[in-house]
Amino acid sequence: MAKELWISGQWMEAEGQHHYTVLNPATETALEEVADASPTDVDRAIHSAEEAFRSGVWSALPLSERSQRLENFAKLILQHSEELVHWESLQAGKTKKLVTYSDLPFAIDNLRFFASVSRVLEGAATGEYNGAHTSWIRRQPIGVVAGITPWNYPLLIGLWKIGPALAAGNTMVLKPAPETPLTTLILGPLAKEAGIPDGVLNIVTGRDGSVGHQLVVDPRVRMISFTGSTATGRVIMANAAPRVKRLHLELGGKAPAIVRADANISAAARGIAVGALVNTGQDCTAATRAYVHRRVWEPFLTALTERFKATRLGDPLEMSTDIGPLISAKQRDKVQRYVDEAVAMGATLVTGGHATSINDRGYYFEPTILTNVQQNWPVVQEEVFGPVLVVMPFDTDEEAITLANDVAYGLASSVWTESFSAATIFSKQLEFGEVWINDHLPLTSEMPHGGVKQSGYGQDLSLDALNDFTVVKHVMADTSGAAEKDWHFTVLGDPPND
Ligand code: NAD
Repeated sequence: MAKELWISGQWMEAEGQHHYTVLNPATETALEEVADASPTDVDRAIHSAEEAFRSGVWSALPLSERSQRLENFAKLILQHSEELVHWESLQAGKTKKLVTYSDLPFAIDNLRFFASVSRVLEGAATGEYNGAHTSWIRRQPIGVVAGITPWNYPLLIGLWKIGPALAAGNTMVLKPAPETPLTTLILGPLAKEAGIPDGVLNIVTGRDGSVGHQLVVDPRVRMISFTGSTATGRVIMANAAPRVKRLHLELGGKAPAIVRADANISAAARGIAVGALVNTGQDCTAATRAYVHRRVWEPFLTALTERFKATRLGDPLEMSTDIGPLISAKQRDKVQRYVDEAVAMGATLVTGGHATSINDRGYYFEPTILTNVQQNWPVVQEEVFGPVLVVMPFDTDEEAITLANDVAYGLASSVWTESFSAATIFSKQLEFGEVWINDHLPLTSEMPHGGVKQSGYGQDLSLDALNDFTVVKHVMADTSGAAEKDWHFTVLGDPPND
């Protein structure tokens, strides 16, 4: 039986019972049939979220109660870990070890964080700032928020949106990527069991971008929180423009990893291999460009190549597998095109470079290192989204910073150095929302994660994310009691000295 839509706290069949097939990218076989929502279905989900918002069932709850129910939700997710890990691994081709030890515990921690900070409404203190009025700040929910998520971290990114959106008192329509809806759908009944009222979290699925598009253009949806490619982000911005709709955009990345001559080379090679190959390179913060000081070029490249060659491709469900397949044949072919084009332009293939399979199945791609590439080539400038790392030399810090910043993206970056002073200079000059020093990838619930330049704007995680999902109102109450205020003459009447 096809997976249905989660609307108003219950499963609903898609209009006309339309559905589509979700594939297992490791075996290329069908996993599940999932509802393909029609415009009427999406309308129903938006209506449900709007009704729930207007009724105040969620936004008017005491904050301690809202927080408790989000905490209950986190506990239920933990109790359903096994099921969630299984389906996340199957639908996305993500290794079970990554989902078990990273995605899922981090997602639960993120939700717990938002459960606790839902009780913290930040803003300037109430006061008589101009002497004649009392000013205060109201921080209120926005209304119906749509969350649109990508296929690379379906569960984690879904919860990155649910956490702050619900903690702030909004209601939601969540739309997972067509390739990976299964774990997001599991969250619907868990939210209900946790005491989150019907209609507060609705989940709609569809075979393409049309469901997301409808959410973007519907006037009842007050905010779009989107994580996905910069190309889709641009389309969403254009479609949201006529209504000046609030956007929260977490887009693509092309992270540099800079290895100074004073770096611990084996630590840098290990850390950058991990940073490049995480989630088979399908990670917006993945290390994709290593800039290596010429003096340490040889030892770094040797250590890095060893790491890449030792990477174990395999069945994502095996705990011994390091990297699984890419999400689809389309993605695999795209990665192959970038590599082939670079090689045709004169790049050196140090290792990897080819699509592969396990028992003739799956969209696998070999861990790949390219050298002798030019800064302006597509493989250096554009998001490849596969296990492909380009390695380029540099001579001075200034050159490294210029090359690192010379892309359209600005999400994540790392610098590898034993010099504290160099690290502080790099952290200031790298134009990325995230700068790691002697590491690449870790995030924490308490600190923001977001991009600059064409990686988007708005933050995930932290109090910043919570605030992104609220509107701020300034209320100014007269305290003088005077009918004629001493400033009224600026509009009606004469200045005092005339
Ligand atoms: P995508 O842009 O193709 O799709 C993302 C989502 O948008 C999907 O749910 C899709 O159905 C929906 N969509 C497609 N067209 C739409 C439209 N016109 N209107 C509204 N919604 C529409 O991205 P993807 O291929 O699923 O994911 C990979 C991308 O996500 C990469 O570029 C990656 O860098 C980015 N990403 C960014 C972050 C971050 O934190 N910045 C995190 C993870 C992934």
